[in-house]
Amino acid sequence: MPVWAEIDHAALAHNVRLLRARAGDAQLMAVVKADAYGHGLLQVARTAVGAGATWLGVAQMPEAFALRDAGITTRLLTWLAVPGADFAGAISRDIDLSASAPWALDEIAAAARSVGRTARVHLKVDTGLGRGGAYGPDWTTLVRHARPLEAEGVITVVGVWTHFAHADAPNHPTVLTQQDRFFEAAAEAEREGCRLEVRHLANSAATLLHPSAHADLVRPGLALYGLSPVPQVDDDFGLRPVMSLRARLALVKRLPAGQGISYGHLYAPEHDTVVGLVPAGYADGIPRNATNVGPLAVGDTRTRVAGRVCMDQFVVDLGAGSGARAGDVATLFGGAPGEPTAQDWAEMTDTISYEIVTRVGARVPRIHV
Ligand code: PLP
Repeated sequence: MPVWAEIDHAALAHNVRLLRARAGDAQLMAVVKADAYGHGLLQVARTAVGAGATWLGVAQMPEAFALRDAGITTRLLTWLAVPGADFAGAISRDIDLSASAPWALDEIAAAARSVGRTARVHLKVDTGLGRGGAYGPDWTTLVRHARPLEAEGVITVVGVWTHFAHADAPNHPTVLTQQDRFFEAAAEAEREGCRLEVRHLANSAATLLHPSAHADLVRPGLALYGLSPVPQVDDDFGLRPVMSLRARLALVKRLPAGQGISYGHLYAPEHDTVVGLVPAGYADGIPRNATNVGPLAVGDTRTRVAGRVCMDQFVVDLGAGSGARAGDVATLFGGAPGEPTAQDWAEMTDTISYEIVTRVGARVPRIHV
């Protein structure tokens, strides 16, 4: 295997338990969208449920269908449908749906009539992220639109929910503003007659930092995978990284001082050196802009990318004295203490750790341990 991602399920279960403990009385929805942030949808969902998650959350309906069709019966919410989506398929699979606008309620209601079942709906309020959800007076319109559909028995509003803009910035004033707007919006829905089962707004950062936002259910994603949503805070919260990305060197050879390396010759060793060829590239999710940056580890050697990352491979400078051989394992990032981390890769390529793990490519086998 040239390159692989190890997925550590003991670490995942540990993180779920840790987040549940932080969440107090709130239930935990494991956010497993985007193939569980690149870790493997079904495997992660099963471990998360085994460790105490009582809900699963995904963005897209096909992700929810994949969970149900694999026999996973845990309460499940999907939140990013477009007009014409297969709402009937979702309702018949017992999947909770989100609505941010009257058209969504109408389509859900029509689908529920067609399958002869009641759809469970979470109304989404935009409390200031400026993304999904009903904003300002549209919220009242949405709630009032739901009421006759509830009376007809085709939908039941079980949840009200929102999402933060700045939960990852400790003490940011918008957190409290959004939280206040949220609880007011939920109270309005209740005054209008909705009998809410769950109010939810906390992502990983809010689960870890803002207990007042836990409400009835927390929705962590990143922290499940052992990555801190607030890397600027000097605290790992006891989380354990779940994914380790490793590859075997495909070639080790000597190059003379001054020999340009990889496309564009953006790196040339100052002295004669030994280089290794790592068989992973941007097709595998390695950021192309990781030119000349590190760290990554080959055995005990800390090294860096030499020159451009290509589609399938990149070169590392191992130093003149290196005894590395083809087949040795390179760790791009890993879970063991002292190994480079996904956060290191995020910092050296000007992105966030979410993107580093999520974009690990489809041809990289996930090895579940
Ligand atoms: N809830 C919603 C609606 C999301 O879109 C996400 C992810 O972006 C999450 C929860 C989980 O967020 P995080 O990974 O920061 O915990």
